[in-house]
Amino acid sequence: MKPEYIGKTKVNKIEEYVDRLDPSFVFKKFNNYIIEENQSWLLPDFVEKKTLLLYFSFHSYLIETPRYKILIDTCVGNHKSRPLPNWNMRNSNFLQKFKQFNLDRSMIDFVMCTHLHADHVGWNTLLDNGKWVPTFPNAEYIFSKKDYDFFNNVKEGDQGYLSMIDSVRPIVEHSQAKLVDDSFSIDETIHLEPTPGHTPGHICIKLNSENEHAIFTGDLIHHPIQVCQPDLETNFCFDPKLAVKTRKEFIENNTDQNVIIFPAHFSNHTKGLIKSSKMGSVYKVIKS
Ligand SMILES: [Zn+2]
Repeated sequence: MKPEYIGKTKVNKIEEYVDRLDPSFVFKKFNNYIIEENQSWLLPDFVEKKTLLLYFSFHSYLIETPRYKILIDTCVGNHKSRPLPNWNMRNSNFLQKFKQFNLDRSMIDFVMCTHLHADHVGWNTLLDNGKWVPTFPNAEYIFSKKDYDFFNNVKEGDQGYLSMIDSVRPIVEHSQAKLVDDSFSIDETIHLEPTPGHTPGHICIKLNSENEHAIFTGDLIHHPIQVCQPDLETNFCFDPKLAVKTRKEFIENNTDQNVIIFPAHFSNHTKGLIKSSKMGSVYKVIKS
């Protein structure tokens, strides 16, 4: 993805890796006819042509406003013990990629997590002499209080348990966490939109600058296929029915609007617009 300018603000994607996932791993019920009917816009960016596996990108967004450098979602991270093989004990060069933006990690002012799942909080911390310490030493980390309260009480073995221990609590212990409600904003450019369902306190992050608008959607929409089929429930949602309701409302409100969507897991060009078509709402990538 090339940088996108929203008014006076620059957005870049920093990719950790791209996975290929079986639709039956992602969705509760899935029939390949959905891909066949929508292949004109799903292939080859979002679905692998040969196998019909779904591409899933894991990336952060770097937002540079005139005042602040903000990182949204922090992928899976390195050296973390996780049940999923592709997430377990990763050793990637994610942090070295900051150099291409003339940045080092001490320059990040805010880290914002759309929710507290392991693949959105991983680089919050890194291992230093056997201890988990904040990766971004000068940043304030913004977490949804609702999500924090929920994940702080999950049981061992449940989704989110391990990442609370190694990627969220160390931030609180270092006094770098700010637990916020939905009314939180960072100056006039960054606001939150509550989008519960995937997790109890899931938030989308809205960016407005010079009358141009964008939104970072986290796991409100996992894959572009859910833009035309918003009722596809994933296997990863806390309340799948509420997630569907929230997603439908979001797509209805943002179809044919001039709002640039920055999703958390869409691959390749990634950023795009939701447009109406003969097939219902579809995702049009912005190739710049
Ligand atoms: Zn998630």
